[in-house]
Amino acid sequence: MNKNLRKPVIAGNWKMNKTAAEAETLIGELIPVAKDATCETVICVPYTDLAVAVKLTAGTNIKVGAQNCHFKKSGAFTGEISAEMLKTTGVEYVIIGHSERRQYFAETDLTVNRRTKAALEAGLKVILCVGEMLSEREDGITETVVKLQTIADLTDITAEQMKNVIIAYEPVWAIGTGKVATDEQAEEVCAFIRAVLAEKYGKAVADGVVIQYGGSMNPKNAAGLLAKENIDGGLIGGASLKAEDFAALLSAATNG
Ligand code: PEP
Repeated sequence: MNKNLRKPVIAGNWKMNKTAAEAETLIGELIPVAKDATCETVICVPYTDLAVAVKLTAGTNIKVGAQNCHFKKSGAFTGEISAEMLKTTGVEYVIIGHSERRQYFAETDLTVNRRTKAALEAGLKVILCVGEMLSEREDGITETVVKLQTIADLTDITAEQMKNVIIAYEPVWAIGTGKVATDEQAEEVCAFIRAVLAEKYGKAVADGVVIQYGGSMNPKNAAGLLAKENIDGGLIGGASLKAEDFAALLSAATNG
């Protein structure tokens, strides 16, 4: 099974939660529970928690990620952080194109593509988010939307660079709503994304790309989702903020 070729990645997206002191407490709880995980374990924390997260996770199997980066190396971009700045803090991953950024911060496929390129050039691994809105699913255009996003967001990204790209399929209607896609709905779109990647990069490259599901994944629904052939992990918001829940997701990915 091609699934066995890919190491699952469980990534927490803390969003705008946890002060540095609170992060220290949560990371202290996560380190022992992540110790035996055989999946890749990532926590994507707010910028203000990066230093403490990098420091506390050094020598553990928890990797640290940020939740966005700018596409310029430096300059007059008040409030922004460059990919290079992230890299120098010791961060390994960055989420790009999360639907909350697309929805609330005018992120477009063009800027997502530029941020993705900058992150890869700086040596970061990218968790690239794509997914349809509820109205788009209801209109029967999920595949069209997801294909357009995937192709546009990966413009000029080479097959070699795809080794450092994870795609997170996140149906917007399932994020933070408690409404999870069924195992079949999630698998269908993740398999479709893999087919889009195969068209663009060839089957061998596509088979190596980790595709996560994200959207209200929790300890109760994780095992079913993670057992699917084309779902190689999860991008997790709410359930990543409690060590007990995140531990259950790590063990679902480890045993799955
Ligand atoms: C997310 O933030 O990417 C996410 C999937 O959130 P939640 O798990 O809370 O739906």
